[in-house]
Amino acid sequence: MKIGILNLQGAVSEHQAMLQQLSVETTLIKNPSDLAGIDGLVLPGGESTVMRKLLVQNHLFAPLKELIQAGLPTFGTCAGMALLSLPESFNMIDGVVVRNGFGRQKQSCEELINVTGLDAPFNAVFIRAPYLESVNDDVEVLATTDDKIVAARKNSVLVTAFHPELTNDTRMHEMFLKMVK
Ligand code: GLN
Repeated sequence: MKIGILNLQGAVSEHQAMLQQLSVETTLIKNPSDLAGIDGLVLPGGESTVMRKLLVQNHLFAPLKELIQAGLPTFGTCAGMALLSLPESFNMIDGVVVRNGFGRQKQSCEELINVTGLDAPFNAVFIRAPYLESVNDDVEVLATTDDKIVAARKNSVLVTAFHPELTNDTRMHEMFLKMVK
C-alpha cells in the first residue's frame, strides 16, 4: 500500500511520520507524475487558499479532482477538509464549510471529542479550523463539538477539522487506512 501526501504547503512531514509509524509506504506529491501507483491520498492542514493556488500552478488540481471523484481514498485534515468540501475546490462533501469557523477566541485549542468508531475520546487539536454544517444525508457525521461538524466521511473521503498528525494518536490514520484496504 502506498499513500501519497500532498506536498505543496502545510503539515506534510507530520502526516508522513505518522504513516511511517504505522509501517505504511508514503510518497510526496508535488507534480502530476508523482501520482502514479498511489492507493490513497492525504491532504494536510495549512492554508487552503494558498494550497489551491499551488495546486493549479503545479498542474495538480485537475488530475487530483479526477482521481478523488473516481474514488481514490482521501483523508483531508483542516485545510485539507476545506479543499475536499468547498464547491470551488474538490466538492466531495455536500454541505456548508465555514472557514476559520471557531472565531478569534478559539483559533487554536485542544478538546477531547467522541468520534464514531473510536473506543475512547480523541484529543483534537484545532488550529484556525474550519467546520462543516448542514451536510447532506449521504455524509456520515463522525464527530461534533458545539453543533459544529468536525469529522465526517462520505464514501472514500474522510475529513477532520482537527490535526491528528500533531498528536501521538494514530487512530484517525488507522481509520483512513482501513478505508484504503
Ligand atoms: N484556516 C485554514 C484554511 O481554511 C486552515 C488552518 C489549518 O489547516 N490549520 O485554510
